[in-house]
Amino acid sequence: MENLNLTNVRVRIAPSPTGFVHIGNLRTILYNYLFAKHYKGKFIIRIEDTDQSRFVPGALENLLGVLQWAGFENDEGPFITPENTLGEKGEFGPYIQSARLKIYHDYIQQLLDKNKAYCCFCPKERLEKLRADQVANKKAPKYDNFCRNLSREEVQSMLAGGTPHVIRFKMPENKEIIVKDIIRGNIIVNSKDLDDYVLMKADGFPTYHFASIVDDHLMKITHVMRGEEWIASAPKHVLLYEAFNWQPPLFAHLPQLLSKSKKKLSKRDGDASVQDFIEKGYLKKALLNFIALLGWNSGTEQEIYSMDEMIKQFTLDNVHKAGAVFDIDKLDWINGVYIRELSIDEFYNECLPYLVNSDLLSISGEKLVINETGERVKPGFVKDILSLEQTRIKRLNEIPEAIGYFFRHELDYQPEALIWKKSDREQTIENLQNLIKLLKKIKLHEFTKENLEKLIFEFLENKSIDTGSMLWPMRFALSGQAKSPGPFEIADALGRKKTIERIESAIAKLQNQ
Ligand code: GLU
Repeated sequence: MENLNLTNVRVRIAPSPTGFVHIGNLRTILYNYLFAKHYKGKFIIRIEDTDQSRFVPGALENLLGVLQWAGFENDEGPFITPENTLGEKGEFGPYIQSARLKIYHDYIQQLLDKNKAYCCFCPKERLEKLRADQVANKKAPKYDNFCRNLSREEVQSMLAGGTPHVIRFKMPENKEIIVKDIIRGNIIVNSKDLDDYVLMKADGFPTYHFASIVDDHLMKITHVMRGEEWIASAPKHVLLYEAFNWQPPLFAHLPQLLSKSKKKLSKRDGDASVQDFIEKGYLKKALLNFIALLGWNSGTEQEIYSMDEMIKQFTLDNVHKAGAVFDIDKLDWINGVYIRELSIDEFYNECLPYLVNSDLLSISGEKLVINETGERVKPGFVKDILSLEQTRIKRLNEIPEAIGYFFRHELDYQPEALIWKKSDREQTIENLQNLIKLLKKIKLHEFTKENLEKLIFEFLENKSIDTGSMLWPMRFALSGQAKSPGPFEIADALGRKKTIERIESAIAKLQNQ
């Protein structure tokens, strides 16, 4: 691998505020952050907003919000202040490109003076026709260098007349360009495959290529880590560094994210915004852990990493170039691991918003209100219920459905569902009636999972009753669903009164059938 100078690492993420942060963007952000932290370098944010037509309101705030959520504090660049306004820090600012136009104008002048760039006055119509002809002739669309050799006088008079123009890079002819990529080795391209691309647009804004290399140079960026889709731009960048006589940074193009069918990730496969994943109930630690593994591994079998472990172990040696498969089942599994690590209080705090948003509960001071019944309950009641699902769910948004039955006034199910496959209606009614008698015998403070289990099993054994013919209807009567935690656990969490009520209501349903 390239002999890296890793003593003064400065990396940047350079998002364009053209949409909300996606999983792929988060991976780029994470790798840059891990790299900076691993080498005790600087993590910089620069906003590339030079394409004003693609600006999406709210995108910058979304980005900074995601960084705050992830806990990635940048050393330089924009940030959200404690007063919730937009601040900026660092000595290489401004860090928002639209505020740096003067800088780009000064640097483009240098290239014009060195004869490395030129003004192009071709009207849009001419360029469109040129392109259409090339496509019709099955040629790769390329600018034909029409304005490359205009005389100084011609240029001056067009400029004086205010003719709209762009500034193009003067592509050297037949030159081998080497992009040094840490992950992929040398990427070699010939300049004859590139054209005189635009550096400055007619609206006076620089293109991405130009602004980005001027800024990477001025901000002393040492490593450029970004998605594979930018590889095609890298030779243009290398040439610009040469034109200025600047030392280019080292590049690392990160592997593409692929769906399980090895196609480019689409929205359906999970290429959704980070916000969507958060709302689905993926925990921050799980999401970051999973994303770290999309292109990197530590060289061991380890799959669960804390942030500190990732920082310690992350290097570019272990980032691979083959596409990384986005496997949502693996994300679910990792999320499950982190959910089980939460204390019950943490789990409760994570789940409460889902219960409130799904209208099951409302918060009333220290207490909670069950919306359907109006009953006020203590958080401990909800914690007991939640603890039944903590080992079962994979995403927090499964919680309202999983435990909704605890908060219903009446459960809605067909009475036949209460009957165990080896039993019948009469037997089920009788078993449930016996069950009520048993439950009524247990003192309120002894109404625990363990006691219930002991008492009911003793009864079943004495009477030689099949366990399923009592426990199935009991569990169904309490939950109203075919899959749920065990009957004793549910009864314990529900409490004696509600448990008896639900069993009585099941008997009534069977009797009225
Ligand atoms: N502005 C580019 C983006 O939106 C940055 C690419 C780069 O990192 O050079 O991702």
